[in-house]
Amino acid sequence: MINGVLERYGEYLPLTEKTPIFTLGEGDTPLVKSESIAAEAGCGELYFKLEICNPTGSFKDRGMVVAVAKALEEGGDTIVCASTGNTSASAAAYGARCGLNTVIVVPNKYVARGKLAQAVTYGARIMLIDGGFDDALRIVRELAAKHPVVLVNSLNPYRLQGQKTAAFEIVNDLGTAPDHLFIPVGNAGNITAYWLGFQEAHQMEWTGTLPKMMGFEAEGAAAIVKGHPIETPNTIASAIRVGNPASWTKAVRAREESGGAIDSVTDDEIMEAYTLMAREEGIFCEPASAASVAGLLKLARGGMRLQDSKVVCVITGSGLKDPDTAVGVDPVFREEFPADTGAIEDAMGLA
Ligand SMILES: *Cc1c(COP(=O)(O)O)cnc(C)c1O
Repeated sequence: MINGVLERYGEYLPLTEKTPIFTLGEGDTPLVKSESIAAEAGCGELYFKLEICNPTGSFKDRGMVVAVAKALEEGGDTIVCASTGNTSASAAAYGARCGLNTVIVVPNKYVARGKLAQAVTYGARIMLIDGGFDDALRIVRELAAKHPVVLVNSLNPYRLQGQKTAAFEIVNDLGTAPDHLFIPVGNAGNITAYWLGFQEAHQMEWTGTLPKMMGFEAEGAAAIVKGHPIETPNTIASAIRVGNPASWTKAVRAREESGGAIDSVTDDEIMEAYTLMAREEGIFCEPASAASVAGLLKLARGGMRLQDSKVVCVITGSGLKDPDTAVGVDPVFREEFPADTGAIEDAMGLA
């Protein structure tokens, strides 16, 4: 039996006796050891935290289950969120499971097709706006301030509480915190949540050490790195296409307190890592997730010595969510044949 985030981590979450307990099977995701990219980056040990194994295919489910449980506890009947795609897929799934109205406000362009397909099928009300994620977030914040609807973006503190449980799992699996945690940064909620989780794990003496938090923005959406909001953010990694991260100051605090870094990677670096993950590691992630791996490769090639380090890259979302990017990757292995065994044998040199 899968017990899920609420049951498994209830004592570390702000639940009460009145909080409903349910699950779609979120959390308890695998930590998979790398061979190829570990060697390429010169890492002592490298692991991927496969958040793509969550029920809607991204880490958003860990926080959403807590946010939706608290919304139900507080008597809410409508949840709203802005999204670059994965938050809306997750909200729509948990909203459907719990009989809530789910309203999602998303940019008309730049939401990956698989994510919209999820929200449509789960039955959410989808409001497409002529603007970016930052506009969508402004709108839902105003809605939630004026009306009895529950905001389930990562500004909702229950989201970060749920997301911190991924750090618990890493500590549990490794028996300690890693030396470095590489993670993509969009709205900066997840890096904040992991840091919270590692700090709590440290306070509870599950680990004697803390990781350096290594966050990576996309170069075209690198507000924190550049030190100012980006008016029109742009990157192929739509899940981190955020120009004014809501958890900006918390992410900077995580960097400072951990002695880590927040840096950026280009779309070319992201796509190189995306392809390497699939072809060398057998892991199909979405482009935003590959930003963590791209960041690792960038720093390793720049001379960062990691041979004595235990490194974890967080693989935040599934490649199936963004089929358009996937089929655009140079299709060298696509060849057409008649429905004939001989033709395939010839082509394979098996004649
Ligand atoms: C939401 C998301 C991110 C960014 O997380 P933030 O908490 O917004 O920084 C990265 N990757 C994927 C796949 C996401 O869905």
